[in-house]
Amino acid sequence: MDYECPICGKLLPHELIRIISHGEAHITEEIKKKHPEWVESNGVCRKCYEYYREQIRPKDKK
Ligand SMILES: [Zn+2]
Repeated sequence: MDYECPICGKLLPHELIRIISHGEAHITEEIKKKHPEWVESNGVCRKCYEYYREQIRPKDKK
């Protein structure tokens, strides 16, 4: 059964959905800024997860 990512709307196998843990609350906050209706327990796809993780990453000088 396919699953629709609530963030990007992409269909994907359910096992690819990532549920964000409590230790990653900063990521869920970032997602909720853009998707206020999103429910954490619905999870996100890997792409969205990685995208938002990038968004919150401090931009250090290398
Ligand atoms: Zn997605």
